[in-house]
Amino acid sequence: MQAITAHKQISKIVHQAKSNGKSVGFVPTMGALHHGHASLIDYALKDCALIIVSIFVNPTQFNNASDLDKYPRTLDKDLDFLAHYGDKVVVYAPTATEVYGSEVSSTPYNFGAIEKVMEGEHRPGHFDGVGTVLNLLFRQVNPDKAYFGEKDYQQLAIVRKLVEKEKLPLEIIGCPIHRQEDGLAMSSRNARLTETQLAIAPFIYEVLQYVKNNFDTHSALQLRKYVSAAFEKKEGLELEYFEIANIKNLSTLSRKRKNQQYRAFLAVYAGEIRLIDNIALN
Ligand code: AMP
Repeated sequence: MQAITAHKQISKIVHQAKSNGKSVGFVPTMGALHHGHASLIDYALKDCALIIVSIFVNPTQFNNASDLDKYPRTLDKDLDFLAHYGDKVVVYAPTATEVYGSEVSSTPYNFGAIEKVMEGEHRPGHFDGVGTVLNLLFRQVNPDKAYFGEKDYQQLAIVRKLVEKEKLPLEIIGCPIHRQEDGLAMSSRNARLTETQLAIAPFIYEVLQYVKNNFDTHSALQLRKYVSAAFEKKEGLELEYFEIANIKNLSTLSRKRKNQQYRAFLAVYAGEIRLIDNIALN
């Protein structure tokens, strides 16, 4: 399998497929592909005849230069990983200039309250970078549907808002979190974990499950205290934030309300590697 690097070529392939009556799905990624990414492709293949997978480590969404620098880049391995899909999958792996033109910078969006909490609060400028690159990629690829993981639940909400703001003619589909057998959510950043860190990281999902199992009987404050204490005691993992938020508007919870749906979200550092995860509570 070969990657296409020119945006004009990818536009042409999609245009031709659509002219032949094929529906086109799009799975944007930053590469270092794993089975979480493959699960999005498999969902996309249920609806669409051709899937474009982009592999692009987007510089404008990193608020930390060392995180960008150390982000795993494994294009040849990624192409091997996708080879079994044959011609149902086309890989678009552009350079920054091919995506952005000469100026690689992000557009300031105003996504409203959903960008002010959690990832938005802790990674300044992150969602402007995400919005900018996806707006450009959506216009280059022009898919019928694009698939995003609930692993990045807040990003999924931002993407829906972006599509609404930019009036883009595509449907956004959210897909469930794909986990290892031990519960750790799959992530490209897991490739950077040491063996010791890999052994303790499943604790993140254990804590989220505890929160889910006790959501009915405990207050948000009690759960928050439990989570802080649990990570304080756990050597090797440092909690950055834990929030319970309404799934509709991502407003973080002070008091539970009836007939509302909630999810718990957290970000944790294992050494210098930042991991995020979330779980549906009710
Ligand atoms: P990334 O390459 O990390 O930017 O992720 C590309 C897409 O894959 C995003 O929509 C992510 O939410 C999704 N994704 C990453 N990890 C998982 C996972 N474990 N389960 C489901 N989707 C995922």
